[in-house]
Amino acid sequence: MNIEIDPYSGFCFGVINAIDKAEKLLDKGILLYCLGDLVHNNHEMERLQQKGLRTIQYNEFKQMKNVTVLIRAHGEPPETYEIAKKNNITLVDATCPVVLRLQKKIKQTYEQNEDVQIIIFGKQGHAEVNGLVGQTKGNAIVINSIDDLDKIDFTRPVAIFSQTTQSPDKYATIVAELKKRMAQHGEIEKLECVNSICRQVSVRDKELKKFAQKHDVIIFVSGKQSSNGKALFEVCQSANSNSYFISNSDEIKFEWFSLAKSVGICGATSTPRWLMEKIANYIKNNL
Ligand code: SF4
Repeated sequence: MNIEIDPYSGFCFGVINAIDKAEKLLDKGILLYCLGDLVHNNHEMERLQQKGLRTIQYNEFKQMKNVTVLIRAHGEPPETYEIAKKNNITLVDATCPVVLRLQKKIKQTYEQNEDVQIIIFGKQGHAEVNGLVGQTKGNAIVINSIDDLDKIDFTRPVAIFSQTTQSPDKYATIVAELKKRMAQHGEIEKLECVNSICRQVSVRDKELKKFAQKHDVIIFVSGKQSSNGKALFEVCQSANSNSYFISNSDEIKFEWFSLAKSVGICGATSTPRWLMEKIANYIKNNL
């Protein structure tokens, strides 16, 4: 049986950069804390923790003083920087440049006109979304479905942005409906739509559709808590109904391959390549 690993799957440059920054400091023997999981993948987190990385949550961060803390690719709201300054915490900022640009654009749009409703299409409570909402003093409205559009006042100015890792198709559907409703209220000129989905995600989305159609069975490898993992798995499922989401090799059921001539292995922007290779070898060795 042919087993192929998707060449477009694996860490995006934002995650590579954050891991690289962490490893360089850990290799120098620096005691490094990371605010939240550096990457939404337990296997990669275990590897980094073995090298000395310590993951902390916000309640611990607020109590700490005189330590070094890494900010992951998702970015942080302004409050995090203020706490660090107050507590003499050295921040190693690995916010992805794409997220940083989006934070700045949202801040600028909000500050230019405080009447504008900033809409963020994303997952409520996700670290990147919290960082984006923080640019608007907490006033941005987070939406995740067409139903959530009811939270918007269509007679006032609206600027809509997307979390960088959301599905381009879903965002397009939301934006189309929002345009329709603003037009119905005769206020279409008050609407600004910003396509802020990361290119690393939108390119993968297209390539993943082709990859999923090419194989009899798709094994999608990702941490269960990864937003990007959920979005990309939906892409696989829509292109190939024999798609399975796994985080570990022990979740694989060999009956999935009974009629398969080819298996495609792919994953999220937080899935390490070494893990996809391990899964491929596990399938090869146990078939
Ligand atoms: S998905 Fe894009 S925006 Fe998000 S961390 Fe990766 S490169 Fe940066």
